[in-house]
Amino acid sequence: MIRHLKFPALFAGIDRMPALGTPVSRRTFEVSNPSTGELLAELPDMGVEETRAAIDKAFDAQPGWAALTARERSDILWRWHQLIVDHTDDLAAILTAEMGKPLAEAKSEVTHAAAYLQWYAEEANRIYGETISAPSTDRRMLVIKQPIGVVGTITPWNFPASMVARKISPALAAGCTIVLKPAEQTPLVAGAMFALAHLAGFPEGVVNLIYASEGDAVGRELCTNAKIRKISFTGSTEVGRLLMRQCSEQIKKVSLELGGNAPFIVFDDADIDAAVDGAIQAKFRNAGQTCVSANRLYVQSGVHDEFVEKLAEKVRQLSVGDGFDPGVSIGPLIDKRALAKIESHIADAVAKGGVIRCGGDRVGMKGTLFQPTVLTEVSREMTVAQEETFGPLAPIIRFEDADQIVREANDTIYGLAAYFYASNLKRVWRVAEALEYGMVGINTGRMSSEAAPFGGIKQSGIGREGSRHGLEDYLEMKYLCMGGI
Ligand code: NAP
Repeated sequence: MIRHLKFPALFAGIDRMPALGTPVSRRTFEVSNPSTGELLAELPDMGVEETRAAIDKAFDAQPGWAALTARERSDILWRWHQLIVDHTDDLAAILTAEMGKPLAEAKSEVTHAAAYLQWYAEEANRIYGETISAPSTDRRMLVIKQPIGVVGTITPWNFPASMVARKISPALAAGCTIVLKPAEQTPLVAGAMFALAHLAGFPEGVVNLIYASEGDAVGRELCTNAKIRKISFTGSTEVGRLLMRQCSEQIKKVSLELGGNAPFIVFDDADIDAAVDGAIQAKFRNAGQTCVSANRLYVQSGVHDEFVEKLAEKVRQLSVGDGFDPGVSIGPLIDKRALAKIESHIADAVAKGGVIRCGGDRVGMKGTLFQPTVLTEVSREMTVAQEETFGPLAPIIRFEDADQIVREANDTIYGLAAYFYASNLKRVWRVAEALEYGMVGINTGRMSSEAAPFGGIKQSGIGREGSRHGLEDYLEMKYLCMGGI
């Protein structure tokens, strides 16, 4: 039984929707607003049995879905896109309620989610094979692309709408069917998107949703059930590693979008005002809770003081509060654990000589609001310089030597995103090429787009999402060799 205490109209009928598995146990879990603690919904807590049933449905539906023409699949994706655009305000309100981000950011996320559906509705029509010049005249050799099959997807709480769209729209465009488990904290916007998918006309079994409070049992079933041919996961490196291990038994394909530890480098020849604006974007968007958040800010000594001054000035103007309040630019952290992490990073830095330039405290005693914070005199030994904080904390490290700082920026197990600001063209090229990251923002603090391949190297992941490369990740290549010609 689903109880939607807020936005009940939007979810009318969702519990009878075929995309949602039929709950077997009577267990439920609650979803609350992290700004206020208000209870938003009570959802069925599904487990292995429901996951298996959803996989069976997806498996049975997959050949029929793949047999449609690309145009027919595209038409349904277009209808889903339009429905999401038409419901942007409602979806954004759900997102802000369950996740906390400011309403304007939530709207922008829903728009971004819709853009993925649009992109892959278009890309569905552009799946190409190839012909190969055969080494003998009696043969013809070609390559066709076919959908991988059923895909299990697991999404995180920090972008609960756009991660759903970014994963499942290329899979559906390719002819795969999917089973999705959203994060425990943010299942509601995923549920609403699936309700709209139902209205868009996906055949039964093509999209399947599992609500669950604990990812491990559902995740294990997705990874070990032989009917699932690929796992697509976004979340922490730790869980990604576990899923990869579980998939190894059946040599199952994986796409992993994992953690980051993004450097943000400001060289002496940078436009400082632009770098400050970029740092605000790259560090404080979504309260610093993005995998591509700038985590370590390296600033060359010639511009260090000016950068710090201007950044702290802008950070003091950011307003912290409930995402529904007008003018709020920093919402709450997702939970108390996240709050404890940022506090411990600050305490460790201060104990080792770090200086708080602004912020540094909780806002109010209840909830999980935290002031946006700028720390200076940060050194390499501090935890902030090593680990992903995932909160509104900008630690600034002064540097002298440009070559050495690129080596230091690369000295991490992660390789998701990096940013740098510089104007000398030779430096721009050399640094862009030398940074060991899947994505590099040059004189910009924001680079995510449905048109670009998003993803990391090293322990930040495998595969790309977005762009034509995102579609390739859901296709198998088959070589056909015709003899006796
Ligand atoms: P997380 O703990 O890894 O959780 C992500 C998802 O995995 C949730 O749906 C969670 O479900 C599920 N999960 C947890 N344990 C699992 C298990 N043992 N087996 C199967 N599924 C399991 O990550 P998070 O704290 O939500 O997200 C923050 C992390 O994600 C950060 O490190 C961030 O950098 C990364 N991230 C990366 C990208 C990217 O594109 N590279 C984008 C966003 C976030 P429950 O909620 O039910 O536990």
